[in-house]
Amino acid sequence: MNILIVYAHPEPRSLNGALKSKMVEHLQVEGHEVQVSDLYAMNWKAVLDKNDMLSRDDSQPFHPSLDSKYAYETGTQSRDISAEQEKLMWADTVIFQFPLWWFSMPAIMQGWIERVYAYGFAYGFGEHSDRHWGDRYGEGNLSGKRALLVVTTGGWESHYSERGVNGPIDDILFPIQHGVLFYPGFEVLPPFIVYRAGKTDGTRFEQICSDLFQRLDTLDSTPAIPYLRQNGGAYAIPSLTLKDDVNPAVIGFSAHISGFKDKH
Ligand code: FAD
Repeated sequence: MNILIVYAHPEPRSLNGALKSKMVEHLQVEGHEVQVSDLYAMNWKAVLDKNDMLSRDDSQPFHPSLDSKYAYETGTQSRDISAEQEKLMWADTVIFQFPLWWFSMPAIMQGWIERVYAYGFAYGFGEHSDRHWGDRYGEGNLSGKRALLVVTTGGWESHYSERGVNGPIDDILFPIQHGVLFYPGFEVLPPFIVYRAGKTDGTRFEQICSDLFQRLDTLDSTPAIPYLRQNGGAYAIPSLTLKDDVNPAVIGFSAHISGFKDKH
């Protein structure tokens, strides 16, 4: 399998750095082809701006999405952006690894998404009609690929439980898993999370690696989170609200998961 790891941590000697190295080693031993986009090591430019487009009419106002579309279609994107798009197209599975920072991904990874997910590459195409509302949420350029989040947190598992003070981890990760990943077509695997990362010693590190390797060994067989497909019949078009008979007692993020039973 071709596996791309998109990785964000500023310190190679961190827990994340150690886990990333172990992951690469394990995947290669298992016979996979691995590429790593180590965003800090690459000095990745995190902000989307007009310098991302190599040929644009500077007399016109910069329009982040339309300029992105033009650059993508005319092959005039900044080379660092097209190189990452090529890696995404090469990969069968993409692993995004990061420490949870302010309940999300570090800014450098958010910037990777904003710049690499060009208009025409990750969004903005497909039929728009009364049956189909663009190729997204389960369809799109990245469909057929799988994605996995590998995340460390400072907070405890209980802090991220259903009634924990931080809110449930599935809700916190929903904008990434459902928005950033499912939207352009990825099948999203349940995340691998290391809670209370600050309390890691040698023994725990070995256990974390063992649990992580088990997940890596089942990348192609682990069932994806069964998010409902936008154009699969669950949503009314064009309101894009769930039809009344789909998860009728459920509101909030969980409503977008097939067969979710609990009321929120
Ligand atoms: P490190 O600090 O590098 O290491 C953690 C522990 O693992 C240390 O004890 C270290 O000794 C040990 N360790 C490292 N490598 C090894 C090894 N090879 N073998 C054995 N032990 C090892 N947390 C939240 O829960 N929610 C938030 O919203 C949040 N926001 C944050 C925002 C910012 C800006 C920052 C800086 C932190 C935030 N945190 C938050 C905490 C953050 O998620 C954790 O600090 C992070 O996940 C820890 O990962 P690390 O790789 O930096 O760990």
